[in-house]
Amino acid sequence: FLKIENVTKKFGDFTAVDNISLDIYKNELFCLLGGSGSGKSTLLRIMAGFESATSGRIIIDGMDMAGIQPWNRPVNMMFQSYALFPHLNVADNVAFGLRREGVARSEVNKRVEKMLDMVQLGALGKRKPNQLSGGQRQRVALARSLIKRPKLLLLDEPLGALDKKLREETQFELINIQEELGVTFVVVTHDQEEAMTLATRIGVMNNGVIVQTAEPHVVYEYPNSRFVAEFVGSVN
Ligand code: ATP
Ligand code: MG
Repeated sequence: FLKIENVTKKFGDFTAVDNISLDIYKNELFCLLGGSGSGKSTLLRIMAGFESATSGRIIIDGMDMAGIQPWNRPVNMMFQSYALFPHLNVADNVAFGLRREGVARSEVNKRVEKMLDMVQLGALGKRKPNQLSGGQRQRVALARSLIKRPKLLLLDEPLGALDKKLREETQFELINIQEELGVTFVVVTHDQEEAMTLATRIGVMNNGVIVQTAEPHVVYEYPNSRFVAEFVGSVN
């Protein structure tokens, strides 16, 4: 469904993404797991089209994405530092992308209501972002990314701002939403427990390279290197 072929990204003579090839299947919840600076966000931005690869190809649903602008890709991205519009209430923040596309008002309202219920914010549509907790804001950002029903949603540390308890609750919510909507998710995280809980498969990244791609229990029980074993905590 999503094919990454020999993608390299250089910043000057520094290689942030080093010849990565990866297949992500339809309806997967794929986690890119790696430490800070390993190249996760860079790879995600290349998939979304916000960054161009130095070399290599991104193919989504059989279509080469070369030269296709982010807003014309069947992809949506939730950024590491998502920003809500402070002057718009929750419902209008979620509706923003749809309105711009000229979807009819009644249809917009129906979809916003359903999406807010799904992220358990049904009662808070009229609030402004500064009247919400960090976790609630994060859910608004998630609803906003999902409202256009992208085939592929790229999430960069979507639960990063949440405390442990809320993080765990929201993990299950994410899985439910992903299954219900039938969207393919690629989730970036540096938290191995989170990847273990969420992922259908994990790609472990280090220094711009994916060192192992496998199901969570395989990564944990059969790490293919000392690095992976230490990163996922299967040795100590
Ligand atoms: P984190 O978990 O901290 O978000 P990451 O895995 O998302 O890390 P990236 O943001 O992809 O890491 O960055 C990978 C490497 O590329 C880092 O060493 C970073 O400093 C470098 N890098 C990223 N963007 C640029 C840029 N625009 N110019 C130069 N170097 C960059
Ligand atoms: Mg990052």
